[in-house]
Amino acid sequence: MLSFWEKNSFLNYDVIIVGGGINGLSAACAIKERHPNKSVLIIERGSWPLGASTRNAGFACFGSFSEIRDDIAQNGLDKALQLIEWRVKGLEINKKRLGVSKMGYKASGGGEIIFDDELFDIGELSEMNKNLYPILKNDVFKTDISKVSEYGFNPKNIRQFITNSCEGKLDSGLLMYNLWQYTASLGIIIMNGMEVQDFNDTGKKCEVIAKHNLIKEQPTFTCQTLIFSTNAFSQRFFQNMDVVPGRGQILATKPIEGLKFDGIFHFREGYYYFRNYGNRIIFGGGRNENKEGETTTEIALNDSIQNSLELYLKTLIIPDTEYEVDCRWAGIMAFGQDKLPIIERVSENVIAGVRMGGMGLALSGVTSERIAEMV
Ligand SMILES: Cc1cc2nc3c(=O)[nH]c(=O)nc-3n(C[C@H](O)[C@H](O)[C@H](O)COP(=O)(O)OP(=O)(O)OC[C@H]3O[C@@H](n4cnc5c(N)ncnc54)[C@H](O)[C@@H]3O)c2cc1C
Repeated sequence: MLSFWEKNSFLNYDVIIVGGGINGLSAACAIKERHPNKSVLIIERGSWPLGASTRNAGFACFGSFSEIRDDIAQNGLDKALQLIEWRVKGLEINKKRLGVSKMGYKASGGGEIIFDDELFDIGELSEMNKNLYPILKNDVFKTDISKVSEYGFNPKNIRQFITNSCEGKLDSGLLMYNLWQYTASLGIIIMNGMEVQDFNDTGKKCEVIAKHNLIKEQPTFTCQTLIFSTNAFSQRFFQNMDVVPGRGQILATKPIEGLKFDGIFHFREGYYYFRNYGNRIIFGGGRNENKEGETTTEIALNDSIQNSLELYLKTLIIPDTEYEVDCRWAGIMAFGQDKLPIIERVSENVIAGVRMGGMGLALSGVTSERIAEMV
């Protein structure tokens, strides 16, 4: 049961946000920065966010050459450019909000490995640079095959290496920890350990029914505006929304002596991505090897994908080098037909800001601003 005091003081807010990942926290901050007097509550089912925001690779990125080329082929040039612009702008908003040191941001640059079996035309590279120039003010992609030996990659089957000077690295744990603290400093309440079960928009206000981990009675909250930042877990509330979960696998090695690269790297249209963290390697991806199996919200490891990551590690990234895997994890992303996020009013008082794809750390800056404008 709920006490009189709990009912009297804990249940009514101007704004309630469901989901305490980077998107939910950023949206709450953007609202509170604009409207300091509005009361804002975030309801998060986990003790800390339990989806993607603390389970990613920490790339401050907007897309590799081959991934952008694929996006243009799938969704057209205009949409692909809009997405890149939002990612670039979003990163700037996040940097401004928290400050680069609190995000562990480093403008390391990086690059992409292109294999012998991948179509690659040097003319496309300059065309892509021309298209991206208005956003990045830089000829971002350059070829430099010498990096393959400089970084210690196995040159076998590598046709080209494309450098990218505009991407960087983040420390996702530090970022989320500091964003959490900033959120609290603005007077936003975060309630953890409660899963939202259902909601009802009466037209005048919204009711939000949650399940508390420890008490039987389901608390019913009320608010003027209800925002869903539930990303891959949104189908439960919006059955017809084009949001499909996609699990991502990652491993991190123990420190490796003499590691030769510093930056963020991609291959195979962004399906594989690796970086250093000090002397460790953080390496993820492989969802393309079993797309159907990885279309799940279950936070669990897939042995065959983890083995495949290790094979790439041994044969491509650090050939002939001793290493030990320190930890492995999985997180859940959200995808759809379109790569742009869904930011829409689903009923009079309910807004959804979901489907953040594989580069949501960057996108969350813009998504949060747009949600705040809608409140
Ligand atoms: C393996 C992997 C690697 C990635 N690498 C990168 C990268 O390098 N760079 C990058 O920019 N992006 C990367 N991403 C993507 C990025 O992490 C996500 O796009 C971003 O974190 C999405 O943030 P979010 O807040 O929308 O979702 P989430 O972080 O998933 O947050 C949603 C929250 O909603 C909560 N929730 C769900 N349902 C309920 C409910 N009913 N009641 C209460 N709470 C609920 C969940 O517990 C969760 O905490 C990666 C993702 C993964 C999985």
